[in-house]
Amino acid sequence: DNVIQVIGGGLAGTEAAWQIAQAGIPVILHEMRPLRSSPAHHTEHLAELVCSNSFGAQASDRASGLLHEELRQLGSVVIGKADSHAVPAGGALAVDRGQFSQDLTETLSRHPLIELRRGELHAIPEGVVVLATGPLTSPDLAADLHRFTGMEYLSFFDAASPIIVGESIDRDIAFLASRYDKGDAAYLNCPMNKEQYLQFWQALCTAEQAELKDFERENAKFFEACLPIEELARRGEDTMRYGPLKPVGLFDARKGDFRAPENQSERPYAVVQLRQEDKAGQLWNMVGFQTNLRWGEQKRIFQMIPGLENAEFVRLGVMHRNTFINAPQLLQPSLQFKNRPTLLGAGQLIGTEGYTAAAAGGWLAGTNAARIALGKDSLVLPPTTMMGALFEFISSAAPKHFQPMPPNFGILPELGEKIKNKQLRYGRYRDRSLFDLASWKAGLSLGLAGVI
Ligand code: FAD
Repeated sequence: DNVIQVIGGGLAGTEAAWQIAQAGIPVILHEMRPLRSSPAHHTEHLAELVCSNSFGAQASDRASGLLHEELRQLGSVVIGKADSHAVPAGGALAVDRGQFSQDLTETLSRHPLIELRRGELHAIPEGVVVLATGPLTSPDLAADLHRFTGMEYLSFFDAASPIIVGESIDRDIAFLASRYDKGDAAYLNCPMNKEQYLQFWQALCTAEQAELKDFERENAKFFEACLPIEELARRGEDTMRYGPLKPVGLFDARKGDFRAPENQSERPYAVVQLRQEDKAGQLWNMVGFQTNLRWGEQKRIFQMIPGLENAEFVRLGVMHRNTFINAPQLLQPSLQFKNRPTLLGAGQLIGTEGYTAAAAGGWLAGTNAARIALGKDSLVLPPTTMMGALFEFISSAAPKHFQPMPPNFGILPELGEKIKNKQLRYGRYRDRSLFDLASWKAGLSLGLAGVI
């Protein structure tokens, strides 16, 4: 009777089901393919990689590489199989996608405690359940989730602006102010003169767009509510200056009061605003810069903005179909739903971004589902680990502007010391994370929190 159900055999659900079974609990893994497919999947295998075959940079002083390493330490089946089927990819962990997914499918199918059940679930079942149906959750289940979460807490479309690491913004140029001095100055402002603005405008008008998928083109109505910045630019030379780049009401206090008539000539011609994304001010979101531009083009053009010449992007802008819940409202850092602790979430659906983050969510949701079934307390990972920081971020970010987040160093608690060299700094984050993860694991196996 203590069987746990996992819905969705993607990156997250596959990892969750494995961890549950390894803890000795029977699990049913529901996967709708091949009976019903999503617009992006092509096979019937578990953990199909819908696009790129890369899990991101491999070096452990890179955000994705650190996440791989943490998952290895925790016995992740997804990263284990990725290592087994790795192909050369110039510093990235990339895999032979066919072998990878086939091996996972066979490995899970052979496990005596895993039942792989093919078929779509239309509603969230009772009992201990892990929900991992991904960015293209089937419409019936999404409707049930809509009812469960409340209308405003489920999104079907991700129109995300780029997010920049705070330390990489040139503070001699960007100034802290909110429009008309309203509220706390939680915006950094990048001022442009006329020449800079016109060059930027022209670059945007002629930039290369990413291709939309057919199913995204069919859903073009989503785009109307929220215009990409390049589309605004193409509507006219001044359209952005009357929209998100409006230069009014923003003053650099360091240069005197621009409202004084003698200072009017210093007034910027346009201003790009960055909104603080996290409590510590390490992440800044480019306001109004949702975009369909290719990623290389985004970097090239957005680094033309004064103050952002050396900007380091945590994520670039995207506009695509993506089903995700408002995790800050709904989830605890243990990945349990606040209003139903026997329901856990993992993967793209809970607002993490990317294959590796999905496997990480699957590990924690699966582990905690097993612990709940065994009557044990659920676990929260140390906040200094990439996994812990990611789940802490999604469960505590500002709900109003919540957008999916990939692993990155900006979400980790700051180091006690300032280290200017980026590589050294990231290496220090890595050392701290792996040390804390090892201590945490040792604490569990000493029985402090109870082993699974
Ligand atoms: P998925 O891997 O999508 O798994 C969800 C599973 O649930 C699917 O197998 C689906 O068939 C199943 N399912 C859905 N509804 C039901 C139901 N009602 N009943 C039973 N089963 C159900 N990330 C990257 O890191 N790199 C990329 O290159 C990349 N490209 C992407 C391209 C597209 C077009 C999309 C949409 C996303 C892309 N992503 C990419 C994000 C990617 O979706 C996630 O990284 C990853 O797949 C998330 O894993 P998941 O387990 O949350 O979802």
